[in-house]
Amino acid sequence: MRLKTKIHLLTTLLMLVLLVATNSGIYFLYEKIAYNTEYKQLQARANELSSTLSQLNEQTDLQQVLRAYMPTDGAVYIDDGQNLKMKVQATLEMPDVPYITFTMPAIWMDGTVVQIKLKQSMEEVASTLGLLKAILVVVSIVATIPIFLASLALGRLILLPLDRLNETMLKSATTGKYEKIEIPDQGGDELTNIHRTFNMMMEKLEQHYQKQQQFVSNASHELKTPITVIESYAKLLLRRGFENKEVAQESLQAIVNESARMHEMVLQLLELAKNNEHFEVHCMQIELNPFLKKIALQMQQAYHRSFIVEDKMPNAIYSDEKMLRQLLFILLDNARKYSEDEVLIHAKETTTHVLITIQDFGAGIPNEHITHLFERFYRVNEDRNRKTGGSGLGLAIAHELAGQLGIAIDVESTLGEGSSFTLRVPKEGQQ
Ligand code: ADP
Repeated sequence: MRLKTKIHLLTTLLMLVLLVATNSGIYFLYEKIAYNTEYKQLQARANELSSTLSQLNEQTDLQQVLRAYMPTDGAVYIDDGQNLKMKVQATLEMPDVPYITFTMPAIWMDGTVVQIKLKQSMEEVASTLGLLKAILVVVSIVATIPIFLASLALGRLILLPLDRLNETMLKSATTGKYEKIEIPDQGGDELTNIHRTFNMMMEKLEQHYQKQQQFVSNASHELKTPITVIESYAKLLLRRGFENKEVAQESLQAIVNESARMHEMVLQLLELAKNNEHFEVHCMQIELNPFLKKIALQMQQAYHRSFIVEDKMPNAIYSDEKMLRQLLFILLDNARKYSEDEVLIHAKETTTHVLITIQDFGAGIPNEHITHLFERFYRVNEDRNRKTGGSGLGLAIAHELAGQLGIAIDVESTLGEGSSFTLRVPKEGQQ
């Protein structure tokens, strides 16, 4: 059964049940009140008759007195427990007409105790109740029409936005485009909010898709250059390398350099893809000075350059040791690549963060490039970086790592003086 039909049937049924229950309640309440009122009136009449009887004597016309107390369309009976003493009645009794009766004791003229019984026809009340029943049935039937129409409208109101959502999703699936639903800028109900969320989701998916496309085209473009270089040098080697030792030397050196560059780039691409999967971060207390000194020593041994760790610094930080080390290696490697002199590593603390700075005294970075440094494949100066063997992926990886560790990276640079990359590591408990 369709959802629209289900909503339609259920709401109609529910409203009908409510209507019938309300109307039945009204009917039975009215019936109870009407009978109670009549019964009370009969009781009052019997009380009055009882006190009148006690004041009568032999000369009184008893029939007349009883007639005066006889209910309309009713009767009065007086008996001494076994035999009927007197009876007056308005009409002949009809067996199928409803009656109410009230019986009470009274003192007869000769001092004996008798029972007086008053009986009253409920025919009028019954006919009023009959009329009320007919009215309520008609009202119920007439009210069914708007209930039916309203539930139909409700079904449409709820399902129209869902139908639009479904249509848009189907369209997206068939066209392969990230289709969105048209919605007003402001206001709207919960279903409009679902549309908004859907549009947001589509936008995000589209952005991710575009980024991915960009990444793949950038990666293939970047890999194409070393492959072309290798290919052309290999051809040169084939053509002239066997006769000319110098050409052979130059070609082989270029091939070795470019394959090393390609190797490095592939490793970095894999690293980026790995970081995108969001590995679990295992934070722990890290003794800052020995940690930084060990990294500096490793860099020194690998590149025979001077990496100086300043002695005065905060005792410890709270972070993932492995990821932080990887992040520092990227920054230290850049500092080494883009400067000739020593590289300084220093740290200080604020109330909320520990700041670790990698400072070099190289050429510096022009201001307009700083905001783009963390984009994938972004390089400040292509020619210079060709010489340094950069791929433009190091800082993108650093940025991903920092994001996962809750670390912000600040860059300060002055042309001709050098650059500083500062990691703002949140203090324990603030991540
Ligand atoms: P790359 O592999 O090219 O070094 P990165 O993403 O690490 O890629 O860096 C992006 C660019 O930022 C580099 O190409 C370089 O131009 C610039 N850069 C990064 N660090 C420094 C630095 N310490 N000094 C000067 N320029 C830098």
